[in-house]
Amino acid sequence: MRKYRLCPKCGHSVFGGRCKWCNYVLPPENTTAAEEAEPQEPQVIEVPQQAPPVPAARVEPEAAAKSNQMVVMDAQQKARRILYTAEQNARELANKTRLESDARAAEIIASAQQ
Ligand SMILES: [Zn+2]
Repeated sequence: MRKYRLCPKCGHSVFGGRCKWCNYVLPPENTTAAEEAEPQEPQVIEVPQQAPPVPAARVEPEAAAKSNQMVVMDAQQKARRILYTAEQNARELANKTRLESDARAAEIIASAQQ
């Protein structure tokens, strides 16, 4: 009779001689008194059968990194927009100041030439 065992590699419950989560081949079953006394692993109820054969621990950091990257990209876009607006404002102000001083200089030169 086959029974559930814990995969020593990924920790998932394994039915039979091979872990379906990480393909680890478990060593042959040696039924001891301690193993017989061990209760059925409740973890198997939490894990859906249609889950991909990838250990959850490997998926979650990637997903977290992806969302972190998106947050960083969003922040970068916002910062770029703010910077662009500030540059636009500064450029407009500088242009206005330059035009005003140019006009003033022209006036001074014109009056000096008269
Ligand atoms: Zn495994």
